[in-house]
Amino acid sequence: MSSKVNPDIMKLMGEYGADTAVSCFNCGNCTAVCSLSTENTPFPRKVIRYLQLGLSDKLIQSPEPWLCYYCGDCSDTCPREADPGEVMMGLRRYLTSLYDWTGISKLFYTSKVFEVMAILVVALLVGLGFFFFHGPMLTDRIALNVFAPNTTIEILDLIMLSVLSFFLLSNAFRLAQGVMGGASNHIKNYKWQKCPAVLIFGVPVTIYYKEFKEFILHFFTQKRFNSCENKQQRVLWINHLLIMTGYSTIFLMVVLGIRWFQRDEILSIFNPIRFLGYYATFAILYGTTHAMTGRIKKTVRPYMRTHSTDWAFLILLWLTTFSGILIHFARLLEMPLATYYIYVLHLMIAVPMLVIEVPFAKWTHQLYRPLVLYLMKVKKRAAA
Ligand code: SF4
Ligand code: SF4
Repeated sequence: MSSKVNPDIMKLMGEYGADTAVSCFNCGNCTAVCSLSTENTPFPRKVIRYLQLGLSDKLIQSPEPWLCYYCGDCSDTCPREADPGEVMMGLRRYLTSLYDWTGISKLFYTSKVFEVMAILVVALLVGLGFFFFHGPMLTDRIALNVFAPNTTIEILDLIMLSVLSFFLLSNAFRLAQGVMGGASNHIKNYKWQKCPAVLIFGVPVTIYYKEFKEFILHFFTQKRFNSCENKQQRVLWINHLLIMTGYSTIFLMVVLGIRWFQRDEILSIFNPIRFLGYYATFAILYGTTHAMTGRIKKTVRPYMRTHSTDWAFLILLWLTTFSGILIHFARLLEMPLATYYIYVLHLMIAVPMLVIEVPFAKWTHQLYRPLVLYLMKVKKRAAA
């Protein structure tokens, strides 16, 4: 089958942080040292070659960029300093923008002006919403649920969740379409007549169902992160887990459990909701601070080059958590006005972080990586 060539792809890669691919002379050292690369899915050399040849339709069908967990071993051994680990990172950004049918992701990754403006516009809309529609600001006591009733916040949260899920899942569907593109070739010997089945991308739906545990396992543990032989990877994996579990805990509490989480009375220190809040705060604050200081000091290979969108995600997440802590202290110190103002500021940071990062930017890999591992397992079982 013929492939379309995109001659501008290498120029474009500079925007995504993968411009060093041009130095690669295809020796294959990187693939030899990569502990995650296998005979059936070798990387990173293969996809770097696709990139150099401008084969963007081959790239969109390639699961490999999502199988790399960026330990940096390949970059340390590359004789041409082509930084293959960072090229894989850049490819993930590029693919994220190809899957996104709205084009927002591409703008976000390729224009710093758009990135800053998008965050500011969403923050401003949240601020204006509070300015015009907030409830009474009682000053004799802290009444957050009068100022911003949790029933109203809950409705807005559910609307936001539905919109974000729609964008994220439709982009994930395009990823699946690309990765499963060749599935029908792998299963040409399947005995269709004996087993009439509902097919998705040429694979019986029952196989997707049977392998779904693979998705759950990788989504919640990211255990492949820890499979690299590189020792520093364990630290990065734990850090990643802290951010992911903290983020997911706070997301579930705020979006689905706001009526229990946002209360006017201070909960007992032994209340599980308060405990979960403390865990999420510690996990995110520690994880993001570690990732940011690592990127400033450039101590390990994955932190040596940082795209502006990585900074945006880390800074927004850190500020969201820090402003959450300030709300907590303002409440403990019984300062009503400070509580209301910091609450608005907190949402002006948290909402852009969710609206932009979850369906269009950094957060997407949280879904795309386990999804690709799951689809690979589905393909393998179908082929067997
Ligand atoms: S990226 Fe470096 S190590 Fe890998 S094939 Fe190219 S030149 Fe060789
Ligand atoms: S960064 Fe690590 S996991 Fe990724 S391709 Fe290089 S050696 Fe393999």
